[in-house]
Amino acid sequence: MIPRFEPQLGWPEFFGVLTPADPQAVNHFETAFAETMGQKHAIAFPHGRTGLMLLLEALGLKGREVICPAYTCVVVPHAIVYSGNEPIFVDSQACDFNMDLRQVKEAITDKTGAIITTSIFGYPVNLEQLDEIRMAHPHLAIIQDCAHSFGAEWQGQAVQRAGDAAIFGMNVSKIITSIFGGVVTTDHDELAKKMQTCREQRTRASGWNKAWRRRLYLLAIYVAFNHQCYGFVNYLDRLGLLGKLTKYYNDAVIDMPLDYLTQMTPVEAKIGCLQLARYLQIVEHRRDLAVYYHRALSDLAVHLPPLIDGATYSHFVIQHEKREQIIHYGARHGVQFGRLIEYCIPDMAAYRSRPGARFAYPVARRMAQRALNLSVSTTQRGAVRAVDTFRRAIASGVA
Ligand SMILES: *Cc1c(COP(=O)(O)O)cnc(C)c1O
Repeated sequence: MIPRFEPQLGWPEFFGVLTPADPQAVNHFETAFAETMGQKHAIAFPHGRTGLMLLLEALGLKGREVICPAYTCVVVPHAIVYSGNEPIFVDSQACDFNMDLRQVKEAITDKTGAIITTSIFGYPVNLEQLDEIRMAHPHLAIIQDCAHSFGAEWQGQAVQRAGDAAIFGMNVSKIITSIFGGVVTTDHDELAKKMQTCREQRTRASGWNKAWRRRLYLLAIYVAFNHQCYGFVNYLDRLGLLGKLTKYYNDAVIDMPLDYLTQMTPVEAKIGCLQLARYLQIVEHRRDLAVYYHRALSDLAVHLPPLIDGATYSHFVIQHEKREQIIHYGARHGVQFGRLIEYCIPDMAAYRSRPGARFAYPVARRMAQRALNLSVSTTQRGAVRAVDTFRRAIASGVA
């Protein structure tokens, strides 16, 4: 079975999880992270969403509107709501999946406090258009959601540095992982200090028992993604037996994980450091696979994603109206195609009657129904099989 994604974990991480972690590991991780991303400060959190929530608090925003994409991870508006602000959703643009910045201009009101722009699937936010907005509204905070991008560049300019702060998610499905965890980066000394104070006041220290749960979780990930085991795991998933473990949201509920205010553990920081050392190599491999997929599928009459300089390809996303049949075909032939992101947030039960769902979302809705992705974390051989299976699915008449 070729999984829809595989965390890039090796022996160093395996030994890392079995040996004690330096109590100062979180500090080391923050220093290494800031250096890798070319930023002055990095502050670590238990989850990316906790970082976003506390960033909004540190920016002094309360009772304000925060603009974000309609097509993004649902934890983003959850964090906005938990910070005491209201998410305002803006539709995406078909060319690169990103939020349409021209529509953002129309969504800005005197209540707006911040704009969250996301380089979704690793496609860099258009920083030229973003600059226009910044010039016209210098009082608005700009937050770069880099959970999918990790160092994407718009015409040579690093996306994470183009704003007041950037957030990163580091769970096992991301480009690099610290088991769970998230990071906020910024070049502003004052904001970094506020974030640290905020973290001290709002989160509690992690104990040995969270550290052990994290270690066991990562070992379980090694087992689940072992090639002998993965077919079985996928089988259980298809039967719906892993529902609670693999589904990370409930359509009707705005919530946070139980431990969202318990600090990142040293063992997570240690794994994060080991992963940072692999970062360049991982991104390079993803770029190679994206080019390979593009070439190998370009003769088919399907909607392929763009190839853009500076993109980091957290996912290779094809849009197809028979997505479900293709995924089903793949599952029966040893290749798992992913279904990320399969919702348009302002259509979800938790958000559709909130004030932020006030625009039209034709593009986001269409992508939510059609997006399927090929693994960019597999080997070259896995990619060849994914292409072969995808082509056979199309040829078999699902399309
Ligand atoms: C994963 C993700 C986050 C943060 O997720 P956490 O699970 O809270 O670490 C934020 N934004 C996007 C777009 C994501 O995919």
